[in-house]
Amino acid sequence: MDLAEDSWVWKYDPSGRFSVRSAYLTLTGLEVVSDPNPLLLRVRKSWAPSKVIVFSWKLLQDRVAIRQNLLRCRVIKDISDFLCALCGVSVESVGHLFTSCDSIFPVWYKLARWLGFQFVSPNSIIGMFEGFLGFSVNRKFRLGWMLIWHAAVWSIWNSRNYLSFARGTVSVDTLVEKVKLSSWKWFLAKNPGNPCSFYEWEVQPVMC
Ligand SMILES: [Zn+2]
Repeated sequence: MDLAEDSWVWKYDPSGRFSVRSAYLTLTGLEVVSDPNPLLLRVRKSWAPSKVIVFSWKLLQDRVAIRQNLLRCRVIKDISDFLCALCGVSVESVGHLFTSCDSIFPVWYKLARWLGFQFVSPNSIIGMFEGFLGFSVNRKFRLGWMLIWHAAVWSIWNSRNYLSFARGTVSVDTLVEKVKLSSWKWFLAKNPGNPCSFYEWEVQPVMC
């Protein structure tokens, strides 16, 4: 009679097997999901700082502390507390805050014009991500536009957090400038020695 032998199982990987890659992804917050959307895997290949990549990874899976999710977890209970921190009109969901909010939609529109493609409004954050990267024609463009994607969602989230604790408004132009500046700084950090000036980045992003 065969008896099943005891064995070690690495619980952070669907296969149950330990690997250095799996451990790295777990420790950095980019844990392996059992049936990953191939699009999600593209988030990791970026010049953006790792904390920003982790945020995007969670955002695309609707796993950030947005008010709709806080309501689901009963962290907040008052109905007035889950309205969007930017417009104060709609429920603050990932889809609303990062795509359809009146304060944010013009940001994507301006970024698309900056990058030189026609922008069609998607109805989900995955659709936004897919559409944003769908126009990249080669690896360099893909890395550059991915960088700008990361800078956009990171800037939107930071502005939202700021407004959650302070009165005021978010200017579309200020947000767009933040995206341009952050993406340029992150590009230079991963490409030391590149002489690209901010002016050049603004005129022809990704061509530096
Ligand atoms: Zn809103």
